[in-house]
Order: sequence, then C-alpha cells, then structure tokens
Amino acid sequence: MCYYRLEFSEVKNMEKPNLKDARIRTHNKVNIIRNFKISDELKEIGKNKKYLVKTYGCQMNERDSENICAMLEGMGYTRTNTIDNADLVVLNTCAIRENAHNKVFGMLGRLKHLKEERPIMVGVCGCMAQEEVVVNEIMTKNKHVDFVLGTHNLHRLPEVIKNSIDKNALEVEVWSKEGDIIEDIPIKRESKYKAWVNIMYGCDKFCTYCIVPYTRGKQRSRLKEDIIKEVSDLVSEGYQEVTLLGQNVNAYGKDIEGYNYNMANLLSDVAKTGIKRIKFVTSHPWDFTDDMISVIRDNENVLPYVHLPVQSGSNKILKLMGRKYTRESYLELVHKLRENIPNLCLTTDIIVGFPNETDEDFNDTLSIVNECKYDQAYTFIYSKRVGTPAAAMQDSIPLSKKEERLQVLNELINKYSLESNKKLLNKVVDVLIDCKSEKEGMLSGYTSNNKLVNVCAPISYIGKIAKVKITECKTWSLDGVLDE
Ligand code: SF4
Repeated sequence: MCYYRLEFSEVKNMEKPNLKDARIRTHNKVNIIRNFKISDELKEIGKNKKYLVKTYGCQMNERDSENICAMLEGMGYTRTNTIDNADLVVLNTCAIRENAHNKVFGMLGRLKHLKEERPIMVGVCGCMAQEEVVVNEIMTKNKHVDFVLGTHNLHRLPEVIKNSIDKNALEVEVWSKEGDIIEDIPIKRESKYKAWVNIMYGCDKFCTYCIVPYTRGKQRSRLKEDIIKEVSDLVSEGYQEVTLLGQNVNAYGKDIEGYNYNMANLLSDVAKTGIKRIKFVTSHPWDFTDDMISVIRDNENVLPYVHLPVQSGSNKILKLMGRKYTRESYLELVHKLRENIPNLCLTTDIIVGFPNETDEDFNDTLSIVNECKYDQAYTFIYSKRVGTPAAAMQDSIPLSKKEERLQVLNELINKYSLESNKKLLNKVVDVLIDCKSEKEGMLSGYTSNNKLVNVCAPISYIGKIAKVKITECKTWSLDGVLDE
C-alpha cells in the first residue's frame, strides 16, 4: 500500500518541546480543567481497529497509560496485546535514563519495518516527547511516526490522532508551559484490586541530574476533594489498595497558595475513606515531616512502607546533585522512621558514578547502606540527561569503574534484602493476592510492608487479603502457604 505523507517542512502549527521554556516557573494560577469529553465525530475513528500501548518507566507512566487506553477505547479502538495485529501503537515513554531512550528507539525501528508491510499508526507520548532532542530525532530519522504528544496535554490524544489522520502527516503537540491539572480524563485501570491515584503532578526540586522537572512541569497538587472522591469511589468499587502518586508526594499542597493542608492531612483523610491499604510514592527526604510519621504510625491502613531515595551517601555528591539534604539529616530521618514505625520496609534509589564520584564518596554510599539496611534498593549508573546541569559537569570516572561500583553496591543491597526477608520466616503475614505468580500453580501478592510473596492458593483468592505463613525467604521474594 502506498500513501502520501507531508514532509516535515510542509507541516504547519507544530508545537515542539522547548527545554528552556520548560524550566520556567511562575506564580501563575494552575488551571483545573474538567468535563473531558470525546466528541461524537472522534468516537468512530477506531471502529474495527486494534490498539496496543507500550509503557516504559515509572508508575506515573503506568497511570497515564490507563488514561490513554480509556481514551482510545472511547474512540472505538479495542485492545490487543500483540503488535502483530495492532492498527495503532502508542509508546508511552520514559526519559530518566539512556537505556529507556534506546529501548524506545529500538521499538520505533521495529515499527518502521512493520509499517513498510502494512498501514499502522505510531504515536509517541510520555516524557521523551517533552525532549527537544528526541522530537528532532523523530522528525529527521523516524518519519514513520504519526504523532508526538506531550505529558501536559495527554487529554488531547483523540484530537491529535484525528489531526494526524486528516493531514496524513506527523502531528506534534507538546506543551512546554508549566502545566495544568486535567480532571475527569477517563481511566481503564489495569487492576481491580489495586489502583494508582495521582495526588500531584510535576516537580520543582530540579535535582541537577534529573530531567523530570522539565518533562513533567511545575509541581501541581490536585485538590483534596478530588483525591478523596477518587479513593472513596474506589472503595465502593471494591478496591483494596491505593498508591498515592507524585514525583515528590511529601511536598503535596505546598504549591497552592494559602492551602493549609499538607501530605500528613491528606494521608489521614485518605485513611478515613476505609480503603484497606494506602501506599505513597515517591518521598523526598527534604519534605518528610514528623506529622507524616505519626500518621503512618497511627493508621493501620497506611502501610509501613517508605521509599526514600538517598541517591548518595556523600555530602559532596549530594550537594552536586542539588538534593538539599545531608547524609546526617537523612540518617536522622531514617532513625526517626525506624523508631516510630514497627515493621517498616525502607527502600531507596541510589545513583553510582555521578560525575567525579571518588572512591571515598562511593564508600560513603556503602556506609549509608550499612547504616540504613534497606529492604530493597533500585540502583543505577548515572545517566547523562541533555539539558540538565549535571550533563555539563566534567566527569573523570570511566564507565568500567562505575560498573564495578554498581556490582559492589548491588551485592551489599542484596545481602540486606535477604536478611530482612529472612526475618519473616515462619511468620504469618497479610498478603494482598492480586495475580497469578510467574511460578507455575502459584498466586502472588504483597505483604503490608511491600514484600513480594508467592503462595499456593486457589485462584478464588485473587483480590483477597489472606493470612499466609512464610516458608521460604529469598533475596527478591518469599514463598508461603495459606494459614487460615
Ligand atoms: S525530586 Fe529530584 S529526582 Fe525527584 S523528580 Fe524532582 S528533580 Fe527528579
């Protein structure tokens, strides 16, 4: 099949990303836009067509993909799990590291070949769509892409698809302004038992290595009424667990002038909705208050699980990263958390090989791991993000050194993960069983302090919080049997 496409130079009204604009923060009021609707003319576009959404990256993207799927289904598309019979493939991308980039461009290469064989529409959404370098690369080397849509205007997906079809050309619509809050975008949740609930968008912290403040815009908290209503509706629908989502949840409410309501207040009010389990990610150590610790301690349904990225144990590196806390203040917070919250599961993120990290700096990271004894950690080699301040820093550390350090760090992390899991041997714990396990004939779920458990149980247990006796402890998971 042969069809004509406009060349990029012919495409008018393209709205491309701009990292300089994305950096600007003003005191302009954040608009809350409601009453999202898909017009009748758009409802037929996907009739008899199948879509596939591929999600890369973090929970925010998982959550956005639930909106993307719902909007596509509102346009008449039906879902497929294979690229082979998809008429539309949407890549919901992540910009946080180089390998996420590479995976997306690898997939675009595959789609290019497919598109030479049959008509297939290809769209790029998510954080990569907010990056100038990516959009330029798509425009010059990936001319088979049909649309690029930014994170701030996800709700524009139906119109953007229509525009691309009508013009038979690449449609780029990426807003670099600070961002609004769009309520009421339809959602197709992946799970019937666990739900992501956004409480805020964007980030104003500007850690020097991180692209997120540019790709996700300024911090914007949703109104408490909207969050509480969403959680209450989920309780009525039978959901057991919510995860409150934001780049920096502890700063909830700080962006709304005169808003005398913070994350501790929100957690406490969400706890009153009666939802059985509440988690929240991600916390920045800077904004973690004593009131929050009290709310976690005093509410049984606020789970004893805190993900507290440390990134480095060296004060010199923390300063270069712009993290705004010290090793000492971080450790003080960890001690307070451990003292006040029994059974706390503490996890973290660590970057090794930040520009000019010395052996001494790295040893500081190892020693903070020894002090905190994390239950788990997500560890990464520093990845340069174009446009961030750290990308301009000189770096004298060879990659081989960074890889060596990562391995040493991972061995230490694994040691503590196993130690912490072993504490549960022969104990009876509550597990929210939510899916079939990868292990033949077993189901899997998470304890209240976020440990993955594989359990022998009938399929009817999916969706239930069950008593499980732990029979085997490994580094990454536990095995157990029902005890009820
Ligand atoms: S707090 Fe720092 S690391 Fe986290 S999203 Fe914001 S800038 Fe990135």
